[in-house]
Amino acid sequence: MDTVLAVDFGATNLRAAVVRRDGTLLYHRQTATGARDGVVAVIERITRLVEQVATDAGIDRSVPVGIVAPGPLEPATGVVLFAPNLVGWQHVPLRKLLEERLGRRVVLGNDGNGAALGEVLFGAAKGCRHLVHVMLGTGVGGGVISHGQLIEGVRGLGTEIGHVSVDPTGPRCTCGGAGCVEAYVGGWALARDGEALVRSGRSERLLELAGDGPVTAAHVVEAARAGDAGARAILENAARALAAGLAGLVNVFNPELIVLGGGVARAGELLLDPLRRWLPVYAIHYIVEHVEVRLSALGDDTGLYGAAARAFLASEGSGADIRLP
Ligand SMILES: [Zn+2]
Repeated sequence: MDTVLAVDFGATNLRAAVVRRDGTLLYHRQTATGARDGVVAVIERITRLVEQVATDAGIDRSVPVGIVAPGPLEPATGVVLFAPNLVGWQHVPLRKLLEERLGRRVVLGNDGNGAALGEVLFGAAKGCRHLVHVMLGTGVGGGVISHGQLIEGVRGLGTEIGHVSVDPTGPRCTCGGAGCVEAYVGGWALARDGEALVRSGRSERLLELAGDGPVTAAHVVEAARAGDAGARAILENAARALAAGLAGLVNVFNPELIVLGGGVARAGELLLDPLRRWLPVYAIHYIVEHVEVRLSALGDDTGLYGAAARAFLASEGSGADIRLP
């Protein structure tokens, strides 16, 4: 198989494209998810988008669909258990519903795990068999590949890297826990800290950037880039918490590479520099000394490449486990 249809199902946008095994991405289409219209409307929208791309590309029914979605989902049953920020998405048999409509084989996976596979097949981790991948968006997700196998656990719900707690007395998290990595470095957490900084009157730069609207994670990064001390301290604190969480994963899995993706990773060195300083503080020296940290090479196409990677590997492998060739 050298071609798949890839779908990136996000809370804001739906994207679809044809992806070839050599990494060529073609016939890209995008539309708003429109989650407020409910589950059925979103599924119809995904169906239409895939059919449009398939028609553009002139491909037949034998070409399968790979799709990544946010939130806890069971890859083996194709059921989305819950999707944060999507109204009504509880226990939705997404794979079955799409297969009925599309008449194609559908492979469903979590977006964070997909991103890890995408980087290994097409991005910054080509050839890597021991990888920790972190997606730093509004929420924080990720994936672990160990000995060439994607680690997903008994129901396929792992690995929720963003919800590893680094301080049980820390800030509340969206998952119900406390002190999770996401509660420091997730986009919503950076916005929360930026908002507090503005309210304290200690950052005119941030106030200027936000104007009358709410402070966003992008504002915090921009203010830090302009040299604002308060904004830099927020990123330092976020990177330190991320380092503590990643140190745990480094100690457990002994990876060769850590890749950071997602919108917040656009902070680049503002995040990487403190992360590289703090990681050796928390991880065991002999394990962390050869670990490299890199930024994602897939950018906005991470979801599409992740969906494609999962579909390719599912068709190439045997059983439910996702293994690299
Ligand atoms: Zn959490």
